[in-house]
Amino acid sequence: MTDLDAFARASLDGYLALVREHEPMLTALDEQSGDGDFGHNLSHGLERAAARAANAPDSEVWRALATAFLDEVGGTSGPLFGLLFQEIARAADDAPTAAAAIGDGARGGLAAVQRVGEAEVGDRTLVDALQPAVAALSGGGDLDAAAAAACRGALDTAQLRARMGRASYVGQRAVGHPDPGAVGLAMLFVACARATGADAPDEFRELTERR
Ligand code: ADP
Ligand code: MG
Repeated sequence: MTDLDAFARASLDGYLALVREHEPMLTALDEQSGDGDFGHNLSHGLERAAARAANAPDSEVWRALATAFLDEVGGTSGPLFGLLFQEIARAADDAPTAAAAIGDGARGGLAAVQRVGEAEVGDRTLVDALQPAVAALSGGGDLDAAAAAACRGALDTAQLRARMGRASYVGQRAVGHPDPGAVGLAMLFVACARATGADAPDEFRELTERR
């Protein structure tokens, strides 16, 4: 087992714990802008991934996440998270550090998510959290900086009117509350930063204490 394998396991464990704790908030956000299933979709995917990973070596954790989300999670977000985890799994196979694995994987994941979903920054989707995290890591930032950038991006979606997905049907009603997918995605980066020993960024507290 390498340090990177241990990092993957700690990231999954931490992400699952965060999403279990904040699932009611994610559900409430998706009730405001969509159909209320996002909290369940994300927590169900992570529970299924944890079940798959329980009997697998640490080196297979990112692939367990990819398979669970691609095969077992519905909603718009399920397959998109699956594509992201698939790219992280690929990058983690030969990355020198955790930041490089997440940096390369998230960059590939962003491209895959945009190829399939066609959302741009500013459309009020999980892309608004993913793109700033990718930019932070590509610019040499650490996972702590990526987590702060993702949380800031998620916070800023509160000002946006959705142009993609179900939230685009409710228009102005969702404005004032952040996009659930962006918040759930930001939690992945918070979990990864914590897995390397960092504290959750202040932006994360701002995100979980608002509403
Ligand atoms: P559904 O809207 O099908 O119920 P979920 O509730 O699982 O899907 O996920 C909703 C989240 O999916 C939104 O908050 C948004 O972040 C994300 N999303 C929706 N459409 C897109 C898209 N085209 N590209 C990227 N993310 C999207
Ligand atoms: Mg939904």
